Amino acid sequence: MGAKDYYKILGVGEKAGASEIKSSYRKLAKQHHPDANPGNKQAEDRFKEISEAYDVLSDEKKRQKYDQMRRFGGSSGFDFSNMDFGGFQGARGARRTKKTSFDGFDMFGGLGDVFSQFFDGNPFKNQGPQPGKDIHVNVNIPFELSVTGGETSFSVSKEKICPSCEGGGAKPGSRVTTCPTCGGKGHVSVLQGSFGVSRPCPRCYGKGQMIENPCDKCKGKGRVHGKRSYTVKVAPNTQDGKIIRLKKEGELGDNGMPPGDMLVKLKVKSHSFFKKEGNNVTCSIELKLKQVMNGTMVRVKTVDGKKVQLKIAPGTQNGTILRIPGMGVEENGKKGDQFVTIRVQVPENPTPEEKEYLRKSA
Ligand SMILES: [Zn+2]
Ligand SMILES: [Zn+2]
Repeated sequence: MGAKDYYKILGVGEKAGASEIKSSYRKLAKQHHPDANPGNKQAEDRFKEISEAYDVLSDEKKRQKYDQMRRFGGSSGFDFSNMDFGGFQGARGARRTKKTSFDGFDMFGGLGDVFSQFFDGNPFKNQGPQPGKDIHVNVNIPFELSVTGGETSFSVSKEKICPSCEGGGAKPGSRVTTCPTCGGKGHVSVLQGSFGVSRPCPRCYGKGQMIENPCDKCKGKGRVHGKRSYTVKVAPNTQDGKIIRLKKEGELGDNGMPPGDMLVKLKVKSHSFFKKEGNNVTCSIELKLKQVMNGTMVRVKTVDGKKVQLKIAPGTQNGTILRIPGMGVEENGKKGDQFVTIRVQVPENPTPEEKEYLRKSA
């Protein structure tokens, strides 16, 4: 393979400026774009060549190196495409983002998404199959459940394997053939600049197979949206914001790649009656003045959903705190208590007897 004359390929002089190179590239790329020349192998090759030339000449550092090589190597068969542009390799491992950005892509007027990847500008964004992304879900749980522990259920709408075609995308009974473009691999190597880059196959969209009759249910995608219910265990003394990871319940991965995880964030709802203080539960109850004067029995709710009888002694004061042992939060095998604060309602027109009581207790 001899040296390629990138200047000649782009039809510009050796002293051409960046804008001249750019405009020439755009003109040629548009003219030879594979979508504008379907099935034309020559145009495709020319297009790749143009892209490669532009990749080098549009980059100041690469161009400098290229010019240097030309000066020394002349036309004596120097193969520039094997050159290592040191310093670029580090970006190879960079994770791709789903969005491909290319400013000015509109100049091709909707030539299709697949080829926009040619114009990505970054040859190191490997577009090979990717594992599924994690799904984040917030689940509200009742206060009582966060204290006692138990289970909570919720449902999530997400993509799942189509049950009708079992993910194959083919109508049951229809013929499936190996994609001739990628030979069933689902990805193709594209020369971008001086580098071979793996891309999802544009013909089979990464599936590696061609389907004669696509499945009605999923339109051949092999995936459908559906609701799925989950039940997760909630540990006793669960704090607000705790995250439970459900392995492999996230988004499905690309062909052959594992799914992501589901991250369930437990949000503890605040309670109108109970509050948590350390591993104790607190609450307050209102009693009539008569009740505390004469003493009484009251029933108080506990976090386990039951009620406990509390004896209010005659003469109990406003603000008195009573303890219900073992009805708090379990922590390290030890259970806290429930503390009940007595609030006394003062009547608008107290009797002389009540007045006397209030005077004494003030
Ligand atoms: Zn299907
Ligand atoms: Zn293919």
